[in-house]
Amino acid sequence: MPYFTYIPKWYQALRKDLVWSVPATADEKTIYLSFDDGPVPGVSPWVLEVLKAHQAKATFFCIGDNAQKHPEILAQIQAEGHSIGNHTFHHLNGAKTNTQTYLKNYRQCAEVVPSKLFRPPYGRLKKEQARAITQAGSKIIMWDCLAADWDAMRSPEQSLQSLRRHIKPGSIVVFHDSIKAWPRLKVVLPKILEEYAKQAYVFKALSPEIL
Ligand SMILES: [Zn+2]
Repeated sequence: MPYFTYIPKWYQALRKDLVWSVPATADEKTIYLSFDDGPVPGVSPWVLEVLKAHQAKATFFCIGDNAQKHPEILAQIQAEGHSIGNHTFHHLNGAKTNTQTYLKNYRQCAEVVPSKLFRPPYGRLKKEQARAITQAGSKIIMWDCLAADWDAMRSPEQSLQSLRRHIKPGSIVVFHDSIKAWPRLKVVLPKILEEYAKQAYVFKALSPEIL
């Protein structure tokens, strides 16, 4: 399936009920890194180590099933000052799932991953699902830049070039702390942290209060 490596403004404007980036002026050099699909042993702890080395904070959208299997990693993520977010219990595609089942899965995840931040797997959810989740008190967090690190057809260099072209103050960037993304993640993440720190950017965790 084709995908954008960044989300154009016109597309963001179609869905104003979702958060695509954080409003920022050009001199507010903040980037919001996010990591989907963990916690995964080996990968998520490595991400935490790299973030710590750069004094960077980030947001981890966890699959409930993974968080339940690896509570010690979930606890470490929070202990190190990062945010956690709900990514459903079984990584459901909202567009292909009836709303009742989807909301049940959202609530099941919320029991393990208590958070007011929610990211729909695949970025897909129906308007009625979005409405119900917003009413339940969650902010729905999308992104404006993708590392596309899950895509085995992409080289780390392609991923880097795309991010360099599209990251701007307030950007929400998606990575994946998954086995599938690892070959690209391990190269791209340290480079992005180094390059943008040199340009005086800071990396912050998302929180419902700033949105
Ligand atoms: Zn996901």
